[in-house]
This record gives sequence, structure tokens and C-alpha cells, in this order.
Amino acid sequence: MLDNTTAHSDRTDDAFETDDAIYCAACIYLVTQRRWRVARREAHEHTVFNPAGRLFDILCFKEAPGALPHGEACGDFTWFPGYLWKISTCHGCGTHIGCRFERADVFFGLIKTRLVDRKT
Ligand SMILES: [Zn+2]
Repeated sequence: MLDNTTAHSDRTDDAFETDDAIYCAACIYLVTQRRWRVARREAHEHTVFNPAGRLFDILCFKEAPGALPHGEACGDFTWFPGYLWKISTCHGCGTHIGCRFERADVFFGLIKTRLVDRKT
């Protein structure tokens, strides 16, 4: 008897699109992944105010391929002392989803309410 049961798989895994994935809440564009969570100022999640006094919950990620940084790095009103920041928008729909922070290292602070962890 031939043991000819080839490893059959009908799974269509996209390496980048896993349970790990975190999407833009507005357009479900893949923004980042849980595995890229990092702590800055000793926490992953921070509650911050922007210059207009608006409150944001932001989450820190070391990478966010779906977040596009724009313009010149700015040091005013930075949420992380010593870091410069750039406004970052969703690559899919242009929604402001956070900021890219840069100094010796680079990370993204993404606005929690503008992210979702599933497509539905
Ligand atoms: Zn989007």
C-alpha cells in the first residue's frame, strides 16, 4: 500500500496576517502586530493629552508598517521626553492613527481607539 498522503493543506496562511494582527478601525488596513508591542516609559499603554487638551490612549509598537509618518520630526509637546515625533496616518485610508517617535531608537505610539484586532 502506498502511503501517498501528501501533506495537504487548504489553509491559506498569509504570513503577515495572523491572529497577531492589529488593523485600522476605519478601513481594516493591517497596521501592526501584537508581537511588536514594546514598553516605553515603563509601560506599553499611555494616556496622554495633545496640545489641544484632547485625551488619547496610545499603545507603543516597535514597528508599524501600516502607519505612514509625515513631515518633519517635531520636538514640541512630545509625549516621550527626548523623542522627536512625526504624525502618522493609516496607509489604507489616511486616518491619523498616531505618531512615530524617534531618538536613538524608533517606535510608534498608536491611538488605541483607532485600532481593532479583528476584521469584523
Ligand atoms: Zn485606515
